[in-house]
Amino acid sequence: MDVLRPFRTLLSIKHDVARSWQAKGKHLVGWSCAYTPEELIYAANSIPIMVSGSLEPSKHADVYLPINTCSFVRSCFDSALKGDYEYLDGLVISNSCDNRNKIFDLWKHHVKIPYVHFINTPHTRTEGTHNFFYDEIFRFKTSLQVTFGEKLSDTTLKNAIRIFNENRLLLKKVYDLRMKDPPLISGAEALEIVLSSMVTSKEEHNVLLKRLLAGASNRADPPKGGVRLLVSGSVVDNSKPIRIIEAIGGSVVADDLCTGSKYFWDLVSSHGDPLRAIAKRYLDKVSSSFMLEPGTNFSHTIEMAERFDVEAVIVFALKFCDTHMFDAPQLVKEFEARDLPVLYLEWEHSLSGSAQLKTRIEAFLEMVKGVG
Ligand code: SF4
Repeated sequence: MDVLRPFRTLLSIKHDVARSWQAKGKHLVGWSCAYTPEELIYAANSIPIMVSGSLEPSKHADVYLPINTCSFVRSCFDSALKGDYEYLDGLVISNSCDNRNKIFDLWKHHVKIPYVHFINTPHTRTEGTHNFFYDEIFRFKTSLQVTFGEKLSDTTLKNAIRIFNENRLLLKKVYDLRMKDPPLISGAEALEIVLSSMVTSKEEHNVLLKRLLAGASNRADPPKGGVRLLVSGSVVDNSKPIRIIEAIGGSVVADDLCTGSKYFWDLVSSHGDPLRAIAKRYLDKVSSSFMLEPGTNFSHTIEMAERFDVEAVIVFALKFCDTHMFDAPQLVKEFEARDLPVLYLEWEHSLSGSAQLKTRIEAFLEMVKGVG
């Protein structure tokens, strides 16, 4: 049995999967930032669905957006304008970065979704911002209750926390399969596994993860391995960039992506007031680049590099992703100070110009092999 195929399949038919949950009576609520407290959505008898883009040119979105909009936000908006997300009952957007912040108005105006909610996510962590964020989460809870007529009790919230924490712990075990050399699952497969958790019920995903963990060591087609890499940077919502890297001798064994390790690394405390625990987890989680934390923003990235024993690092930013572009020079320095070779790249979400990218990555990998 191919224990990995179900994850790939979920992604390839993600819109059908979403509709199948709707047919079973679930509300579907889209989200676009890993700071969205999905447990609340789940507790409201709903399935949280990550809104992602496609590799096609964004010609519908280009009509509305300035040229310096990041290509991820552009691609997601393009998919929405094409009607790919017409089934959504709701959408939650937060002001994690300026691009996401500003796209809220355009979604609201041009994409007709019955319920649209904005979460004001602080960019610092202090006692005051924790209190502020708790109030934001409380406001979100109330709004979900009113919109969907579902009661979010402590019991339903605790149940959602339990299911989501189980998913996170299982995903960590899946990541541990990459500590081996060669790893038991490739970087592209690992990303597909995490991404697929964002397009279906976490309960269903937990069942698939347990099956994978039971069968991974006996797989007939383990990855070949290669130069052990950490990939760090902007959001990656499909496995193609990682496939490109792995097809030319790289082996992506670790990441710090908001659709990768940063998505599931931290648990929600199962003690005390569940709403407060959820608010605390999301504000205290491994931080994204929009957070203002000089000196500490890279600790997770460096920890991942050490834990997974990487030989080199690829730092990248999507074009016009200002938060990651600002971080990149300092992050490159951090790795160079640890004698790890680093390649910095900028790419478009659509991967246009991928031949040139491939050439640069190939040359980098050759250089790393030559040094090693
Ligand atoms: S963090 Fe970067 S890639 Fe992600 S939405 Fe913001 S600008 Fe775009």
